[in-house]
Amino acid sequence: MKRETKVHTGEGLQEALRGQYLNLGISKPVYAFGEEVLAQLKNRFAEIDAVAEYNQLKVVKAMQEAKVSEACLYGTTGYGYNDLGRETLERVYAQVFHTEDALVRPQITCGTHALALALMSNLRPGDELLSPVGKPYDTLEEVIGMRPSRGSLREYGISYRQVDLLADGGFDWPAIEAALNAKTRLVTIQRSKGYQTRPTLSVERIGELIAFIRARRPDVICMVDNCYGEFVETLEPSDVGADMVVGSLIKNPGGGLAPIGGYIAGKKECVENAAFRLTSPGLGKEVGASLTALPAFYQGLFLAPTVTAGALKGAVFAASLYEKLGFDVIPGGSERRHDIIQAVRFGNPDMVIAFCQGIQAAAPVDSFVTPQPWDMPGYDSPVIMAAGAFISGSSIELSADGPMKPPYAVYFQGGLTWQHAKFGILKTLQNLVEKGLVKGVF
Ligand SMILES: *Cc1c(COP(=O)(O)O)cnc(C)c1O
Repeated sequence: MKRETKVHTGEGLQEALRGQYLNLGISKPVYAFGEEVLAQLKNRFAEIDAVAEYNQLKVVKAMQEAKVSEACLYGTTGYGYNDLGRETLERVYAQVFHTEDALVRPQITCGTHALALALMSNLRPGDELLSPVGKPYDTLEEVIGMRPSRGSLREYGISYRQVDLLADGGFDWPAIEAALNAKTRLVTIQRSKGYQTRPTLSVERIGELIAFIRARRPDVICMVDNCYGEFVETLEPSDVGADMVVGSLIKNPGGGLAPIGGYIAGKKECVENAAFRLTSPGLGKEVGASLTALPAFYQGLFLAPTVTAGALKGAVFAASLYEKLGFDVIPGGSERRHDIIQAVRFGNPDMVIAFCQGIQAAAPVDSFVTPQPWDMPGYDSPVIMAAGAFISGSSIELSADGPMKPPYAVYFQGGLTWQHAKFGILKTLQNLVEKGLVKGVF
């Protein structure tokens, strides 16, 4: 490659940028198509930036009010008594989510674990769990015991009831009312659609649902699975009445830096119940060494609003680009966003594969490997996954996956920077064009 020696500005900079894409295998027509799509997105991007700015200030204010100091960045070992960094971080999370308390720990291994912990610690034998928004995320099926599973809530005598959303995505108010009974103790509301085709719930709609439940049963705990939703809007579900919000630190709130972890923010009693379950009755929040995780937890949370904004821009760009090419995208290019997941329905397995291979080819890590569909445990059809992440399995980093079954849709999310997400999406289109799967202007 020729070494560039001149400084690029104005028109020259645009030219140099096209050259960079060309060097990375993006052809001129694909790049030009991307720019055409982007030209329509200025206002959308400005709004995403304004939300990020709002949330950036929210996070800084929380860190200042909790008096985060240099000493908070040093972790503890062993029991972790008086772990200043851990205790302060939990105050910061409680501030950000406007809750009484929070549990934010590297000992919470993932999002599923955080959700299981919140459920198992706040439910008792004989209680009933209700999901008024349809089937929960796949991994929760085993936690609940919808499929027979060792250690499930069901094994402990906790029953489960579900009310599906209506065909148009609306809440089935009469059925929800009928499902609330004397045993109902906790209502779980999943904000993101996850890998389903229902719409993601806005914070406003979550607020309406919680108000409806509260009016009938003021004593039930309303929990929100907040995965993929953090910092997408200016409000969080805890601002509209949720007793607990729960999520993973290798998604939005970890800002791409947290190497592990989960959080539960909410009412003091709910959070303490979770702490007694995570560690031990009697010990609760008092133990749990933070080891070396704290700098990444703090810095990741600090970056999370802008990282989430980058991922959102990528999702909007992907939706708009594939919509313009005639594909069915969920949500649509101009729809409001409530999470960072974008689905594209290709209706063709080769296209799902080409898309995922394009994402992989754009990665900073493992860009040279070619993902293939395989029979993953827990799935009923082969799945192809693309991820070239710094943190293993991190889905706030640019990643995509698709099950090899109709409607042959890919689910795409993340991107630590908007610039990288843009490159990844252009790479998917380039790959589809090169394989002859997308024709037309190319
Ligand atoms: C990712 C996710 C989970 C589970 O998180 P893991 O970290 O993968 O265990 C649960 N619910 C939703 C909506 C998710 O997106």
